[in-house]
Amino acid sequence: MDITSASFVISNTDIGKLPKPVLPEYAFIGRSNVGKSSLINMLCNRNNLAKISGTPGKTQLINHFLINENWYLVDLPGYGYAKVSKKERKKWQGFTFQYLKNRKNLMGVFVLVDSRIPAQRIDLEFMEWLGNKQIPFAIVFTKTDKKESKDIQQQVNLYEQEMLTTWEFMPKYFCTSAISKTGREELLNFIQETNQVF
Ligand code: GDP
Repeated sequence: MDITSASFVISNTDIGKLPKPVLPEYAFIGRSNVGKSSLINMLCNRNNLAKISGTPGKTQLINHFLINENWYLVDLPGYGYAKVSKKERKKWQGFTFQYLKNRKNLMGVFVLVDSRIPAQRIDLEFMEWLGNKQIPFAIVFTKTDKKESKDIQQQVNLYEQEMLTTWEFMPKYFCTSAISKTGREELLNFIQETNQVF
């Protein structure tokens, strides 16, 4: 898929004020610093569509972007940053989980995980929650430029082993890099195909 237009629509903490659910929508989520803003900018061919996080944990908003006038990309708040208080985390969970459970046009969630580190409990638990709620998702390994491809594959295999302790199969996954643009075409093509079934 070519990206011909990408524009910011609205930031929300109020799920009652989201854009009308008339277009297919994809949410991006992950721990703070996982590379979410960089990935979104890379996918959209923009330098600063999503803010590269200056202050981790500060962007506690659901951000909607309209892509090619026919689908929404949603930047969800990062989670798991150590300095976020329990109260803030609860607030985050409250509206993010409400959004994920109730958004009718949500076609899928991309759960970003850092390809350089082992599976993190917070990510595994979040994916389990998505599974329980029957919300479709794919894993996006970020920052794959920092390792050789055989090491990335090894890391993915380890991740898969970990997933298979609770899942029957490894969910769909993408290996990406905001620097080398690895995975861009594959991920956008997946969105394009999924848009067809909206
Ligand atoms: P966010 O907090 O998840 O939005 O993460 P950012 O996009 O702000 O990235 C966090 C840090 O990781 C920044 O220093 C980025 O430059 C770096 N980063 C993000 N994506 C990549 C990538 O694909 N490769 C490399 N080498 N670094 C990256």
